[in-house]
Amino acid sequence: MPHPDSWLCIRPEGLYCQPGDFYIDPVRAVPRAVITHAHSDHARPGHDAVLATRETLALMDVRMGPGQAGARQQALAPGETLRVGDVDVRLAPAGHVLGSAQVVMEFEASRAVVSGDYKRAADPTCAPFEPVACDVFVTEATFGLPVFTHPPASGEAAKILASLALFPERTHVVGAYSLGKSQRVIALLRGLGWDKPIYLHGALMPMCEVYQSMGVELGDLRPATVAKKAELAGQIVLAPPSAIADRWARRLTDPVTALASGWMRVRQRARAGGIELPLVISDHADWPELLRTCDDVGAPEVWVTHGNEEALIHALTQRGYRGRALRLIGYDDAGEVAA
Ligand SMILES: [Zn+2]
Ligand SMILES: [Zn+2]
Repeated sequence: MPHPDSWLCIRPEGLYCQPGDFYIDPVRAVPRAVITHAHSDHARPGHDAVLATRETLALMDVRMGPGQAGARQQALAPGETLRVGDVDVRLAPAGHVLGSAQVVMEFEASRAVVSGDYKRAADPTCAPFEPVACDVFVTEATFGLPVFTHPPASGEAAKILASLALFPERTHVVGAYSLGKSQRVIALLRGLGWDKPIYLHGALMPMCEVYQSMGVELGDLRPATVAKKAELAGQIVLAPPSAIADRWARRLTDPVTALASGWMRVRQRARAGGIELPLVISDHADWPELLRTCDDVGAPEVWVTHGNEEALIHALTQRGYRGRALRLIGYDDAGEVAA
């Protein structure tokens, strides 16, 4: 049986499956791409043929505009297997954002799984990560350091409601990335019993509408306009992290600024960003989840795409796995507050 390193390789465009003649999350436009999820560092415009989940294709269309997200699109349903060239391809849920999937490839009884971004924590807005046994597991390592342990997300979201109880007149502005994080924060607040309208910066509404159209319950969502700032006193407003840093948030009434990100585990980051209420809510696996996932998939060999490769590979080697750093470039959520 051929080792995956004989049929999966790194090219300037990204990770390439040779017997299937396709790329996974390529950073440049290619003839054939398989896309794990719709975040901008994984899903780029201009590919000819795109294979992804139905949800990812819908999110890509909204983000990029009609015709940009692949000249030819093909949706692969959960559990469905497609023969591409000489490779059987299947998409397994990754638990990262709506539609996110791992790419399961089988070539001559040799199986490799590319995780894309993933997490193991519960998230009502997407299907949970499914461990798939394989010969090589290709993982991310955005939070690949022992210091990164994410607390339960509902406890973090509860801090917003606790702050509102203390400061009932202040507008609570929560920075949350437009795809995935904002919908998760909304779902967490709904789970905690917050049934009032939640107000959204204009950049967040289109993604939330896709979620709702795919059956994810987000409750009463309304546009947040600074013109109506009196109405926003004592309310929760979600905005992209960039809007928290600029004047948009400061024009609201005496705002409390919060930010939902795995990076909020690093206190200096919150302080530097002027964030009063840091919320450690991440859509990526933390350190224990990364190690547990490698155990769950049981692959003797783990390749690490991006993030803190060295630390994870060192820990995996100590646990008896062979580790390899792919050092893929162009996957930049490690450096941003979005994660
Ligand atoms: Zn992502
Ligand atoms: Zn990523």
